[in-house]
Amino acid sequence: MTPRTRLWLDFVNTDAAAQSPGGDLLRDFEALLIWSQRQGAVDDERAAGIRRRAVLQPAAAAATLVDARRVRAALRVLAEKGQVTERVREDAVVEINRVLGRSAGTRRLDAVPAGGYTRAFVPTGDAFAGLMIPIVESAADALVDEELARVRRCADPRCHRVFLDGTKNGLRRWCDMGTCGNRAKAARHRARSETRR
Ligand SMILES: [Zn+2]
Repeated sequence: MTPRTRLWLDFVNTDAAAQSPGGDLLRDFEALLIWSQRQGAVDDERAAGIRRRAVLQPAAAAATLVDARRVRAALRVLAEKGQVTERVREDAVVEINRVLGRSAGTRRLDAVPAGGYTRAFVPTGDAFAGLMIPIVESAADALVDEELARVRRCADPRCHRVFLDGTKNGLRRWCDMGTCGNRAKAARHRARSETRR
């Protein structure tokens, strides 16, 4: 089964804590733009326009990156503590509405070449500000759909990745069975053979 993914959780997982020791994936504005393109959160044509503007207005691009990291920090708190702490949810709503409130645009439904459909937001105002819209909308969906109870942090204490538990029984513990899950399995195995000895 392919794990269900969520844009806002993938975004949280770009931070230095989740990437350790690789560092922050969003090291500059261009990295943020490339990440958004890869996620399908911005199409190539719009990305080209944003890239041109970033060259002309480097200060605005840098400010957008700072703001993106601020949103990311708020979303990490929501992912990790939102289910149990009402105050955290309230703060996240303020942050989401701050981002949603500053970008005018139109919404569209697009067919995806690989199959299926996706909703798109086309900013008509500040293109930089529009970059964060799909991300905060994804977080907003998690609140609307009451999905936070299924959002977890990886059970490996060294791993800071968050994920959506899409299993039927809701008992998924690791971000990835291939990495953290396997490490835990190997550790259990080692512990068992040591007691046997
Ligand atoms: Zn993990």
